[in-house]
Amino acid sequence: MRITALAGGIGGARFLRGLRAAVSPSDEITVIGNTGDDIHLYGLKVCPDLDTVMYTLGDGIHEEQGWGRRDETWSIKEEMKAYGVGPEWFGLGDRDFATHLVRTQMIDAGYPLSAVTEALCIRWKPGVRLLPMSDDRVETHVRITDADGPRVVHFQEYWVRLHAAVDAEAIIPVGADAAKPAPGVLEAIAGADLVLLPPSNPVVSIGSILAVPGIREVVAGANAPVVGLSPIVGGAPVRGMADKVLAAIGVETSAAAVAEHYGSRASGGLLDGWLVDTSDAAAVAAVEAAGIACRAVPLLMTDLDATTEMARAALELAAEVAK
Ligand code: GDP
Ligand code: CA
Repeated sequence: MRITALAGGIGGARFLRGLRAAVSPSDEITVIGNTGDDIHLYGLKVCPDLDTVMYTLGDGIHEEQGWGRRDETWSIKEEMKAYGVGPEWFGLGDRDFATHLVRTQMIDAGYPLSAVTEALCIRWKPGVRLLPMSDDRVETHVRITDADGPRVVHFQEYWVRLHAAVDAEAIIPVGADAAKPAPGVLEAIAGADLVLLPPSNPVVSIGSILAVPGIREVVAGANAPVVGLSPIVGGAPVRGMADKVLAAIGVETSAAAVAEHYGSRASGGLLDGWLVDTSDAAAVAAVEAAGIACRAVPLLMTDLDATTEMARAALELAAEVAK
């Protein structure tokens, strides 16, 4: 079985760990990673979501934090600060720096991001094929109005520096309209036996991937069933501030509203099936009324077993909708 998943950072990566445990070793998992979060810092190309997937599946992640390296030290950052060089608000540890140095060196030598990602994965052995959504530069920007007036900031500045404390007025995937899917991306979706949308941020993770021309169309037209899992539990994101970016695109923060935002494949949308948390069981009827098969199961990734059960539930729902 060939499974293709679209993924952001923490939510995507943790789910993928469960998925890997739920399938048999002969199954092939391809992950299309979000690169809209990418940022250039200190002259280095940083790909937070690709790295979170790579470190999580490669057993190098800082588990509690959910991003960055385990056993991290911060000497470089402290030295930069001593020179008065920021940004202080973005956490890049010493171990993590090595990843960005290798990546940037390879990109400067002319390798596309997809080839660089493959090279980094030789070390991390994530057990999945990890493809960036595009080799072209796409950067999610957020329109806000604060004390400095109306302006547009990089997504990382909005999320990490401003903690999404001001309202997002618009989400702009800069460069997406001119970007091409990375080699293998469209084929991995079109040729899959199952397409999964993990509980990643629907706007700035999955939404950014879908903003690359061609990707949404191939998901909508895939032969395989498409099943998603809600990142919204009990009317709130489990972690992070997805409510802020959902509001920016006019979508209510609820499991049902996110499903309706993705839409039913029967009416030109993306989903055949959708899982909501048991606490959102009341949403099942509304999702099914929208033409999407829906089940309520526990959706909290508290440990690997719970996450593996979530992946199994997604596989079961996929088998049901495939009939
Ligand atoms: P990011 O790029 O690091 O923000 O990660 P993703 O976009 O992949 O995932 C972020 C989303 O994961 C957030 O909207 C969270 O609500 C969701 N999330 C995190 N932990 C859980 C969990 O245990 N269960 C569910 N259902 N969603 C989760
Ligand atoms: Ca992200």
